[in-house]
Amino acid sequence: MRSVTNKRRALGQHFLRDTGIARAIVELVAPTPRDRVVEIGPGEGALTAELARRAGQVVALEVDRDLAARLRARGLERLEVLDADARTWDYGTLTRPAGGRVLVVGNLPYSVGKPILEALVTARTAIDEMALMLQREVAERLAAPPGSKTYGSLSVLTQLYCEVRLALRVPPGAFRPPPKVDSAVVHLRVRATPRVALRDERRFHVVVRAAFGQRRKMLANALAAGLSVPLETAREAAAGAGIDPRRRAETLSIDEFAALTERVP
Ligand code: SAM
Repeated sequence: MRSVTNKRRALGQHFLRDTGIARAIVELVAPTPRDRVVEIGPGEGALTAELARRAGQVVALEVDRDLAARLRARGLERLEVLDADARTWDYGTLTRPAGGRVLVVGNLPYSVGKPILEALVTARTAIDEMALMLQREVAERLAAPPGSKTYGSLSVLTQLYCEVRLALRVPPGAFRPPPKVDSAVVHLRVRATPRVALRDERRFHVVVRAAFGQRRKMLANALAAGLSVPLETAREAAAGAGIDPRRRAETLSIDEFAALTERVP
């Protein structure tokens, strides 16, 4: 049987003990009685009680059955605790309450922060706003503008669908036990339409991932390798989109990636 310590580590169980920060996270989405909230990884409930106090309904997804049972036993009103994995839960089943919003809030387990985020972005049409605590480096990547060191495919694909703002930085001492890394909270507002109109969103994802596949290389080389096309074809596609093929992916705006997607075969 796994020890409690191993389980805690595997599930990223660092519990927030700073009530001021918990309230500040909830305040980022400011739930009202008309809103439905999905909380990811409620753990010992640092955010849950405040969410249940303010929102019309809270659905909490917790993979650790012991923690889920303990939270259920608290009998908080308007709270439903599900034994669920936030990576695979079907967010598409969420319905928007009349006149209200669907909000997602969570202090995400760092080891699975990215797959959870990907699931949320995929389910974006069911969601209005999110406040998510992540490893600081990942949070910074999400919000990074073109040209910055941390700008990558995660930034482009999230910013295509959401307005992203780095809202709070949180030091390890705010958690019990303290993690080895810094944390930060991002606020995401899902856009009504993607930032740029795309004929083929799937192709856009493929091109962005290929461009960042070898981020130290020039754009044309990275595209040639990532899309398995001749170097000359990649060069022509970039030039045709008005982009110098010698640039690096991290300097391209979302609009430029969209133009590039139209040109690559
Ligand atoms: N929200 C609490 C807090 O702020 O103190 C706990 C946060 S702790 C960083 C992450 C929580 O996510 C833990 O309770 C852990 O059991 C849970 N968890 C880990 N992996 C999960 C998954 N795939 N789906 C749902 N919950 C998960």
